[in-house]
Amino acid sequence: MTHVVTLNAGSSSLKFGLFTLQSDDPVAICTGVVDRIGSEEAHIGAKTSDGRVLGGAVPEGIPDHLEAMNHVLDLLAQQFPGAEIVAVGHRIVHGGPDRDRPILLTPDSLQALEGLSPFAPLHQPYNLQGVRAAIRRFPDAAQVACFDTAFHRSHPWVNDTFALPPEYYEMGVRRYGFHGLSYEYIANHLAKTAPLLHGGRVIVAHLGNGASMCGMINGRSVGSSMGFTALDGLPMGTRCGQLDPGVVLYLMEQKGMSAEEITELLYRKSGLLGLSGLSNDMRTLEQVGTGAARRAISYFNFRARRELGALAAVLGGLDAVVFTGGIGENSVLVRERICGSMGWLGIELDHDANTDHARIISTPLSRVQVMVIPTNEELVIARAAARFVYPEMYQGQLDTAAPDIA
Ligand code: ADP
Repeated sequence: MTHVVTLNAGSSSLKFGLFTLQSDDPVAICTGVVDRIGSEEAHIGAKTSDGRVLGGAVPEGIPDHLEAMNHVLDLLAQQFPGAEIVAVGHRIVHGGPDRDRPILLTPDSLQALEGLSPFAPLHQPYNLQGVRAAIRRFPDAAQVACFDTAFHRSHPWVNDTFALPPEYYEMGVRRYGFHGLSYEYIANHLAKTAPLLHGGRVIVAHLGNGASMCGMINGRSVGSSMGFTALDGLPMGTRCGQLDPGVVLYLMEQKGMSAEEITELLYRKSGLLGLSGLSNDMRTLEQVGTGAARRAISYFNFRARRELGALAAVLGGLDAVVFTGGIGENSVLVRERICGSMGWLGIELDHDANTDHARIISTPLSRVQVMVIPTNEELVIARAAARFVYPEMYQGQLDTAAPDIA
């Protein structure tokens, strides 16, 4: 039986999946994650579809992504000895201004993607390391790149640009948008399960350790909260979200901070962690409930409400809101605080349904339907990879046209 491996390399983690291609949609038989790559406390955790828990601590540590990949592939080979790997799907954070769909990786396209590393220095090099390791391990398999930026290439120009002279746009200083694989999953899910809403105006709130929102019309992105990098927009676990660029100039010029120090501050010491001084983890902050933790949660919810209102204006109204990501799927409190005061926008939350983690958490009379849909980026990657090997298996890209917003 043929299989697809999915790889999703973050700065210190590697998520992976093994899918069989036995039906018209890939089926996950094992998913897992390697955590704390580069430290001596590395850990591999995986679950199989028949309920087995695999992996454990790696006492000797895992120094880099290549080693992490080897651990994962050894584990999969050991547990699924007959699996024939025909394709490897990679999550690649940056596809540049033009790539609007997955591509088959070749030496040339790999080199072109390396050229985009300066746009995403904390992610792209690790993603591409993963590709090289997979090519070495599976030289005959199709290697497919799925981009976080691709879904947003339907952005109209006004949401793709900053108010800078055009030469900056030409040099690539644009609002790329990220979390595209998650948004694509939700758009496809709505197309299958709620076609009327899919055809309407939808805001998807992907609230996890990284957080963003995307406004869609007809299943296509017309606006999103992340911009040139994955720093912009909503506050996140350790990232600041929207920040006046004057703050960066002040820190450099008046406080003598270097680019490295500011990078560390904005990417790793801000957001929920920075505000609370305690944790980047929403669940922990909800549990401890100290003043600083409450303030951090308040700021998160305040910015989310603000972004929701702004995107509703971009869409010219609203038909549905979808919560996804670890916080969006699980935090009753956050969903309540974001939607509880949105009656003016036509959102009426059903508090019991929200507490029960129902799929629809708005009242039957709510003008805007509010839903909770668990995302599945790995499945989006697996489908894309499978499509290159068996094109008839999955139709893939939505073919609706992006609306023209002046
Ligand atoms: P990543 O962006 O790393 O994939 P996730 O989507 O897994 O992150 O989301 C992680 C976040 O979800 C953490 O802040 C975690 O605390 C939060 N989370 C998970 N479960 C709950 C819960 N039951 N209540 C509140 N927050 C939760």
